[in-house]
Amino acid sequence: MELHDANPFKIKSVANAAFKVDKLPYPIAGKTFAELEKIDGVGKSLAGKISELLETGTMVEMDELLSKTPSGVIEMMGIKGIGPKKVAIIWQDLGIENVGELFYACNENRLVEAKGFGLKTQDDVRKAIEFTMDSHGKFLYARVEAEAHDLIQQIKSIFPDGMVEFTGEFRRLCEIISKLTMVLGSRDQSIAFNTLLHSDVMSNIAAHENHITGKLVNGLEVEITCVEKRYYYKELFVQTGNEEHVKVVLDRITGDIDQPESEEIIYKKAGLDFILPELREGSAYIGKAESNSLPALITLRDLKGTLHNHSTWSDGINTVEEMSLYCRDELKLEYLGMCDHSKSAFYARGLSIESVLQQHEEIDHLNKKLSGFHIFKGIESDILYDGSLDYPDEILKRFDFIVASVHSILKMDEEKATSRLIKAIENPFTTILGHPTGRLLLSRNGYPIDYKKVIDACAENNVVIEINANPLRLDLDWRWHKYALEKGVWLSINPDAHRKEGFLDMHYGILVARKGGLYKERCLNSLSLQEISSYFDKKAGRG
Ligand SMILES: [Zn+2]
Ligand SMILES: [Zn+2]
Repeated sequence: MELHDANPFKIKSVANAAFKVDKLPYPIAGKTFAELEKIDGVGKSLAGKISELLETGTMVEMDELLSKTPSGVIEMMGIKGIGPKKVAIIWQDLGIENVGELFYACNENRLVEAKGFGLKTQDDVRKAIEFTMDSHGKFLYARVEAEAHDLIQQIKSIFPDGMVEFTGEFRRLCEIISKLTMVLGSRDQSIAFNTLLHSDVMSNIAAHENHITGKLVNGLEVEITCVEKRYYYKELFVQTGNEEHVKVVLDRITGDIDQPESEEIIYKKAGLDFILPELREGSAYIGKAESNSLPALITLRDLKGTLHNHSTWSDGINTVEEMSLYCRDELKLEYLGMCDHSKSAFYARGLSIESVLQQHEEIDHLNKKLSGFHIFKGIESDILYDGSLDYPDEILKRFDFIVASVHSILKMDEEKATSRLIKAIENPFTTILGHPTGRLLLSRNGYPIDYKKVIDACAENNVVIEINANPLRLDLDWRWHKYALEKGVWLSINPDAHRKEGFLDMHYGILVARKGGLYKERCLNSLSLQEISSYFDKKAGRG
């Protein structure tokens, strides 16, 4: 009722009656209308509603309200720390319709500005959602990374002569982790096993045949396999690659490899170059390992700048100058691409044409002031429902580069979503396609797209595809990087930072780009300042 702005007196009387009924010392089922009416706080009209509920199991008025409320909004009512009034603001003023979008909005700092909210409420909401996300047993890589490394350090200090390494999803740098696995090699397997069993490195420690299970503080399941040192590398190999990968490699080996002295030896015996753990998914890189043509995977040091970031001009926390100084002085980068939201993104205070021109003046001024660093004028232009960009051409041509992204009306079938994206890709002003599916990992599926068609269109129109480095997005999905690279498409590792610390997400962008097989020669923001300047000029027909 509060969500739909019902009369406050009516809301109060219903809440009061519900409270009183709940406290009755006897069950209410089976009571007659006359008996119900006499209950303190109930009265005639509510007695009617209660009878209706008891007889039919529901109430027409309630069903009507429910039918007008998206299920995601109802789910939000279950989040600790926000009552119906706040949910109403989140839904109606901010246009957020489910828990996943709300979580992302907290990370993008969008709640702070809303009526009755502040930094603290936003933080509480974010933590409450994180808690429920974790309780499903699956975790974002970024949410378990620090604790996983702490755990392995503790184990190393207990077994200074032991050999220990992560395996499975975590070692393969998967974006979602459902179990943290590792292998511990020691001279005496049973001593190690018992030492670990009686340690306090995890909670819920339990013994199984050759492994020990437990839980991290955040609830993630852990499984540690104990083996004698001579079996360590075989176990490490078998547990790291996915099932298909391990089988394909082992099938190529004739003879015995029960006690290899390294993982490299296993690949060598299979007639392959060493395949890094993050690439051990199926047989994707077997051919390249056979022909000595595995990619030299990109590293964080290869990144020379950062594109697609927000400032206080739209929904960011830091000013353009603060963002620039952080990139120049802390991260030692050569350039920053500012991409505040465009005018249709009203919920994120998207820039009017006037604000765009003012921001450009500010950037010109800063570019004169900041030595050894350059700020590029970009915009994150909404892709409107018909696939067009958000400003008239005479404004679009003023930008150095344009990231085009979908932010509204995400409910589309594959055909509509694909054609909407392709229309934007074909726009000559589009430089980069931003977060191609709009997904929020573990909380919102992206709209369905025909990946091949979208990637092919980018190849044809010379449009770069973003790898959005926010650990919730990691979109373009790594499973499509290889295809994009084969088609000649460039990728760009974009943090989509809404505050200075947001730049640090580039670390997760790098991990997932490595998993996708990206190398620096095809990453847009691996270009030096000079190289990327001429790249933008050429794309805009200026060079
Ligand atoms: Zn965006
Ligand atoms: Zn953005």
